[in-house]
Amino acid sequence: MRRVLTAAIAALTVTTAGTVTTGAPGQAALPGQGRPASASATPRPGSAGLGDSYFPDYGNGGYDVGHYDVRLRYEPATDRLTGTTTILAKSTQALSRFNLDFLLDVQSVRVNGWPATFNRAGVHELVVTAPRPIAKDQQLTIVVKYAGVPSETLVNGYTGWTRTADGALAVNEPESAWWWFPSNDHPKDKATWDISVSVPTGVEVVSNGVQPRDPLPEAGDRTRWSWRSTRPGATYQAFLAIGQYDIVTDTAPNGQPVINAYSTTLGDREPAARASIERTAEIVDWETVLFGPYPFEAQGGVAGPIDGIGFALETQTRPVYGPGFWRRGANPYVVVHENAHQWFGDSVSVADWSAIWLNEGFASYAEWLWSEEQGEGTAQELFDFTYADYPADSEFWRVLPGDPGADRVFDGAVYDRGAMALHQIRLAVGDKAFFRILPAWTARHRYGNGTIGQFRALAERISGKDLAEVFTTWLFTAGRPELTTAAARSAAAPAQPKSWAKVRAAHQLLAR
Ligand SMILES: [Zn+2]
Repeated sequence: MRRVLTAAIAALTVTTAGTVTTGAPGQAALPGQGRPASASATPRPGSAGLGDSYFPDYGNGGYDVGHYDVRLRYEPATDRLTGTTTILAKSTQALSRFNLDFLLDVQSVRVNGWPATFNRAGVHELVVTAPRPIAKDQQLTIVVKYAGVPSETLVNGYTGWTRTADGALAVNEPESAWWWFPSNDHPKDKATWDISVSVPTGVEVVSNGVQPRDPLPEAGDRTRWSWRSTRPGATYQAFLAIGQYDIVTDTAPNGQPVINAYSTTLGDREPAARASIERTAEIVDWETVLFGPYPFEAQGGVAGPIDGIGFALETQTRPVYGPGFWRRGANPYVVVHENAHQWFGDSVSVADWSAIWLNEGFASYAEWLWSEEQGEGTAQELFDFTYADYPADSEFWRVLPGDPGADRVFDGAVYDRGAMALHQIRLAVGDKAFFRILPAWTARHRYGNGTIGQFRALAERISGKDLAEVFTTWLFTAGRPELTTAAARSAAAPAQPKSWAKVRAAHQLLAR
């Protein structure tokens, strides 16, 4: 998947903007707020970022979120969004204040029931000062009320919120929540979430997980839709699809609910969308054999509207697909890709955005494995053809999949050379070890984060092989590597595998 904003954001200088305050002034000792601040820990401001090497101000320090309750009201006619988000968190240090990442206009913030003061800083920081200092390990209930027009809330001319003719899509990576709920916006702070949205009756709302209750009629000819995610996820894995959708429910072979949704705007692309997304349960079943138990509570996919996004995203339990994937007929390869991300990216997330290969290299290699399974070309044949397809002097070989740079997180090389790197690792360790390493990785870091170094260490431990050279050559060295093994040099002018066109078509939309 891709985004447009990150390079611009990474280059911005963060400056403190004007101060807005609300609610009661700070008071020294309010009752009923849990433990008092310990004398030994002087309250300090939580950091404005988590120190990500590409996006240092993404996320915030000093607390850890356990759950988001996002309660919204949306007007498709005007794109006006009003909301109350309740954040359940725990402080990880004594705090004098802390930050949330958010862009819309905030009306009020309360911390454990008490009105807090707040101000804006930088591009997306909401700085919250509680009426009294917060102790380490204190439970925090943070309630933020807000409103805005997300499609008109621009950062460097960009919004991650896509307004469509019949509604909206909140689907983007790495920044998406900024436009619809305040959060600790980095994969290192995972949480569960409840999302409910009131819309005019007749409009559908689709999101992650399961529906804890049926859509509920409200006054004024409105309906409130509720969705629940019960397994921890990163903020960018939360999504909203609001508009005219045909929602199809079923049960997967493993007994889980399958909830698919098809925009009614797709016209003659709709059959191809259905012929692809309806294979989700089959594909997840196959991926479970390779990658280990499916990590989430539901399955599905959303075929977004014709005027929506130009990419697809591995939103948790239910990827969202742009209409471009169905232009030339069904394409199960993108469904394989986005559902492989449920393990590689969603359940096991990057600890730092520089490690994007752990997401995109693996999801891309899953496509090659699917091709092999379907008899449409082996992973070796796809490797050979990809290798030959990019001439040695191509710009492609200058990007390091293991550290592509903040402005190349979704470069095509992260996908294609990323898959080639995994194939070389497979050749180095052998199939037996390789297909033990993948489920071991997803088990070890389930609902957590991983680094490339940790993956290498695990692969070396399981295979008993020193993998320094293959990791360095394929992930961290510019230039087209020489092929040194007979197996990797199977053809000088390889034939085009049957799956190539579908894989290429998917990657042209997924990568930049
Ligand atoms: Zn991807």
